Amino acid sequence: MAIHNFIRRTAEVDADFNLYEDENTIIHDDENHRSNNLDPSQIFNVASSSEMDHARDLIRNQIIESRWRIESGDNIRVMHDPWMRGSAGRWVPSPQPAGVYQLSVRDLLHENYKVWNIAKVQNLFSRDAAKRILETPLVSSVREDKVVWEEERNGCYSVKSGYKLAMRYMIGSDKHHVAGNWNGIWKAQAPHKARHLLWRLCRGCLPTRCRLLERRVECNLNCPVCDIETEDELHIFFRCAVARDSWCAAGLSSVLHNVAYQQSNDMDRNFAVCSNESSDTVGRVAMLLWSIWHNRNDKLWNDNVQTPRHIGRYAFDAWNDWYLVHKLQSNSVSGTTEAVLVRWEKPALSWVKCNVDVAFLPGSGRTSVGVCFRDNSGQFMAGMTQWQQTVISPVEGEA
Ligand SMILES: [Zn+2]
Repeated sequence: MAIHNFIRRTAEVDADFNLYEDENTIIHDDENHRSNNLDPSQIFNVASSSEMDHARDLIRNQIIESRWRIESGDNIRVMHDPWMRGSAGRWVPSPQPAGVYQLSVRDLLHENYKVWNIAKVQNLFSRDAAKRILETPLVSSVREDKVVWEEERNGCYSVKSGYKLAMRYMIGSDKHHVAGNWNGIWKAQAPHKARHLLWRLCRGCLPTRCRLLERRVECNLNCPVCDIETEDELHIFFRCAVARDSWCAAGLSSVLHNVAYQQSNDMDRNFAVCSNESSDTVGRVAMLLWSIWHNRNDKLWNDNVQTPRHIGRYAFDAWNDWYLVHKLQSNSVSGTTEAVLVRWEKPALSWVKCNVDVAFLPGSGRTSVGVCFRDNSGQFMAGMTQWQQTVISPVEGEA
């Protein structure tokens, strides 16, 4: 039972429905998941692994960017290895006459020269296949038959370039592409966790109870915060009474009530805000949405109840703190601010300068004072130290 509860909790709070997706792709549940009676964790795992298999197959079969670099051609099988250049694919297409299935690329070259045996190639293959083979250049500087990864200049595979390639393919396909102002989300001036939540929201992969039901998770559909209406994205972030009041407390009610942002679905509403508001305001909105979601989870799992005012104020303060630190950091990186140096200066003629310092020893209950007088040439005139048996503030002490 404990394990089951943990799984439920993971599913409802943390699980991203589509773990391996890119910002512009969406991966739909398939019919297999609907027909099986799986528990929530299995649903997410199956969805993820099936999509991962799919992505792996894509790389392997359709968009593979590795191919053999030809030296002698001894080790490269004509019909079984990817070795041709060009955009039409790295494999020699099938079917071909039976005899060529046993050949290596070497058999298509002249004996002592690294050039294609044109007559032989044209005899063995169909016109199109022969044309593509003969268009594959033979580079004399290549010293061994070797598989190279074309996405990297050095020919070595890297996870980074593999990922980019897979994403390029998936984003380019209509099935996975979701139109929207995605850059507006990532340009928002907000902590990354807040932008990430905004992204999940727009991708429809935030486990609200309506989304969970779509994924065959049987659960109560009522909003965990107000317990009145059905919990979908629009309700929990925009229509729930608690959410609406927290928008006001965060100073964002003008954005909430702007007629330009009254789209019927949550994704369009967020994109409209991203397109029309400054990146600072989008950041504030993202931070507030994060706080609302955080409050929802805190209520659901810890039974902690926060007032809308607290939620809004928290978002307001958290954003301001983040912004301040972020600005300071970016300023110090660009070197636009210089440390203000304070140096002691001599007093003017006929003036005496007195410098005072106060120190406290924690736990001693005593305050120590040091005083120093200097004339206009900077020469020491008089000094004094003393301590007293009371602890006063630095301001009081130096006064
Ligand atoms: Zn509600």
